[in-house]
Amino acid sequence: MHVTATIDELRAWRRGTPAASWGLVPTLGFLHEGHLTLVRRARQENEQVGVSIFVNPTQFGDPADLTRYPRDLERDLSLLRQAGVDLVFTPEAATMYPAGFQTRVHVADLGQRLEGAARPGHFDGVATVVAKLFNLFQPTRAYFGQKDAQQTVVIRRLIDDLNFDLSLVICPTVRASDGLALSSRNARLNEAERQTATVLYRALQSAARHLDEGEIEAAVLRELIARIVADEPLARLDYVSVADPDSLLEQDQVRRPVLLSLAVFVGPVRLIDNILLE
Ligand code: AMP
Repeated sequence: MHVTATIDELRAWRRGTPAASWGLVPTLGFLHEGHLTLVRRARQENEQVGVSIFVNPTQFGDPADLTRYPRDLERDLSLLRQAGVDLVFTPEAATMYPAGFQTRVHVADLGQRLEGAARPGHFDGVATVVAKLFNLFQPTRAYFGQKDAQQTVVIRRLIDDLNFDLSLVICPTVRASDGLALSSRNARLNEAERQTATVLYRALQSAARHLDEGEIEAAVLRELIARIVADEPLARLDYVSVADPDSLLEQDQVRRPVLLSLAVFVGPVRLIDNILLE
C-alpha cells in the first residue's frame, strides 16, 4: 500500500499505475466499519482502490468541532492495509488549500437545505474538496455512504453539473447492534450519551412505522420524532425533516420515496441519521 501526502506523488502514482478501473473512497479518517464497507465494495469492483484521509477544514463551520474531530492515522492505515487498499492520500490542509486559494464549488439550492441550513458553508466545503479529489484521483467509481444522505444528493448534482466522468456508488448505512449509525463522532460520547444516541434511529423507525400504518401528514411525523427526542434528557433536536429525497424539499403529504432525517445534539456531540423509504 502506497501512502502519500503530496499531490505530485499522488499524480505520479495515478499515471504510473495503469488499471482498467479506479475506485475512490473519500473519508475524514478515524475509520470504522461504515468506512470499511465502502472500501471493501470498492475493492470488489475496481482494479485499483484509493482512499483519502483528510479532515477538511472548509466543511467545518465551528473551529472547535474541527479541533476535536478524532484522528488516528496509524490505526487507519493499518485497517486500510488489511483491506487491500492500493493508495492512501493523507494531505495536510496547506497542501489542499495553499496560500492564495480562492476557488469554491457551490451547489446552490441542494446545498442550502437541511444540513446546509444548520451548517452554513458546509456543502461548499464538501463540494470543493470532493471536486479536487475527483480531479486528482480521476476515479472510475466514487463510494459514499447513505449515512450522509444529503451529501450523496449534493455530489450527484456536482458530478452531473461539472461533467465528472465517474459513477457514484452509494452504500447502505452501517449500524451498531442497537441501531446507532456508526460515526467517527460516536467516539466522543460518554456512556450515558452513547445510550441516549440510540434515540435517532428509534425516532426514525417509529415515524416509519406510523407511515406504514397509514399516517400521511408529514407534520405529524415530524412532531412524533421531535417528541421522542424531547423525552431524552441528554438529547436536543437540531432539525427533523420529511423530504423528497431528490429535491430535499419538505413534503406536506408524504409521498414515497421519502427521506426521513434528523440532527440531534447528544451532550456536546451533534449526530445525524436518516432512513430512505422507497
Ligand atoms: P466521513 O469520514 O464521516 O466523511 O465518512 C466518509 C464516507 O463514509 C462518507 O461517504 C460517509 O457517508 C461514509 N460513512 C460514514 N459512516 C457510515 C456508516 N455508518 N455507514 C455507511 N457509510 C458511512
